[in-house]
Amino acid sequence: MTVLTETAAQPWPSTTVFGPHGEATVAGASLMEIANRFGTPAYVIDETAVRDRCRAYRAALPQAEIAYAAKAFWCRAMASWIRAEGLSLDVCSAGELTVALSAGFPVERIIFHGNAKTPRELAIAVNEGVGRIVVDNIAEISRLAALVPLGYRQKVLIRVIPDVGAGAYAAIRTGGEDQQFGLSIATGAAGEAVARVLGQPRLELTGLHCHLGSQISSPEPYETAVRVMVQQMARIRDTSGVALPELDLGGGHGIAYLDGEHGLSLERFAQRVGGALLESAAGLGLPAPRLIVEPGRAISGPAGVTLYRVISVKKGLTRTYVAVDGGMSDSPRHSLYGAPYQVRMIGRESRAGTRGFHVVGHHCEAGDVLVEDASLPADIHPGDVIVMAATGAYHHSMASTYNLTGRPPVVAVGKGGARLVVRREGPEDLMRRDVGL
Ligand SMILES: *Cc1c(COP(=O)(O)O)cnc(C)c1O
Repeated sequence: MTVLTETAAQPWPSTTVFGPHGEATVAGASLMEIANRFGTPAYVIDETAVRDRCRAYRAALPQAEIAYAAKAFWCRAMASWIRAEGLSLDVCSAGELTVALSAGFPVERIIFHGNAKTPRELAIAVNEGVGRIVVDNIAEISRLAALVPLGYRQKVLIRVIPDVGAGAYAAIRTGGEDQQFGLSIATGAAGEAVARVLGQPRLELTGLHCHLGSQISSPEPYETAVRVMVQQMARIRDTSGVALPELDLGGGHGIAYLDGEHGLSLERFAQRVGGALLESAAGLGLPAPRLIVEPGRAISGPAGVTLYRVISVKKGLTRTYVAVDGGMSDSPRHSLYGAPYQVRMIGRESRAGTRGFHVVGHHCEAGDVLVEDASLPADIHPGDVIVMAATGAYHHSMASTYNLTGRPPVVAVGKGGARLVVRREGPEDLMRRDVGL
């Protein structure tokens, strides 16, 4: 038996055990039993791995505020775990906020994001008492101030573009100029937003925010961003006499998707970013602001796997396709970014050796590919079960109902065994929205 540890450069949940005859357990729960009991495709999320990641963050950054980014993976069970671990929370829609509130998440620990929050979303956030709202455009400053009742002050952060490019794919690089997030320092928009917020008596500016991008595996871009952001905070101090108490560095911390791949080292991140923060603040005579970090993928990603059943194996001219009962609707990252994944057959032993297969889904697009050139047993056949690693972030949350296929269930594993936390979406759920003629 191989026991896989979180520190190893591998993508499976830290509690995963693979046996010699196709046995596979996560947190002690058999994946084959889950596939048989709940059906496939199914998302499996390991509560112990989620909680371990939360604790690792709190231990590595004891002075910082850790705000989990709900958009990576969100449901009421997850909200309970994040709340119990003492983390704060990022939401970026009224929907994510609703889930948080329904799970009793403390509203003062919630940060509300979005480059185009609707007036309705702003009103809900203010009325519910959301702790901080991140201003991302000039128009929402007066809109927001008008929603705050007399005698109250709404805490806000301002999202600034630090012009630091980082992130694994162009679509998820959000820290540079000329993309839709944040206010540019270069054009003067960031300075204007600061002046306007400071001029609103019903808004309280607590700090600056930036988010560089996603799936970043080196601490260097964060270190650069800290220096840029602290410089901006010193300029605000110089021009308006206000030393802002918070610096939110966003999320984007990378994880391993493949064997041998390393995610962002939390220890190195804490050391480099903490050092740069203290040094640059001291150099500018600024009290060091409290750091906020917003990991999403790095909390839930390594804790999840997806189970699929093989429907057909088809030989093409140069490739052989293994088609499964899910696809781009439940696993969109390969079709969006060409992201690589690792899969493994479970449930039986094979002595046939391995060969390369294209693992594809059941949707009506040639781009519905889950894994290119996956190494699987040469005798893989319909009915076999395969498990995909590192699917705990941006799978369930980005799932669609393309081809009117319902979204898979989420099965949580942990101390209490396997239990359903989000049920499978059936035709009756999909039909409920279709009001007909
Ligand atoms: C998406 C996002 C995050 C989380 O990103 P990860 O890559 O999942 O860590 C954090 N903050 C903001 C503002 C985001 O948009």
